[in-house]
Amino acid sequence: MDCLFCRIIAGEIPASKVYEDDRIFAFLDIQPGAPTHILLVPKRHLAGLAEATAPDAELLGALQLKAAELARTLHLEDGYRIVLNVGPDAGQSVFHLHLHLLGGRPMAWPPG
Ligand code: AMP
Ligand code: ZN
Repeated sequence: MDCLFCRIIAGEIPASKVYEDDRIFAFLDIQPGAPTHILLVPKRHLAGLAEATAPDAELLGALQLKAAELARTLHLEDGYRIVLNVGPDAGQSVFHLHLHLLGGRPMAWPPG
């Protein structure tokens, strides 16, 4: 599978792992947009939210809950942002679904 994040999950490409369980993998974004910038991905390849279907609902919920748990662990009590870019207009550049967990600084709204 020619997918960057599948290769990171498989350990073929190095990454700074933050968390792993049987179905979720989390690692530091290589180009951080905030003091904390973690990517959370399902281990099973899923191109993006646009490709997700009803059976993926529990997994999508688990990814968000894990992001909240990591945010608690990292003491982001002042707030954080979860971003899921979908498609070219949103700037999705890796087509393996990933949540961005961003925190450690105030966030502007609306996002750019
Ligand atoms: P997106 O633009 O939402 O598809 O996000 C893709 C993210 O993956 C970007 O924030 C990149 O900085 C990040 N990224 C790309 N390559 C790597 C890598 N090898 N290790 C960690 N993060 C990466
Ligand atoms: Zn993949």
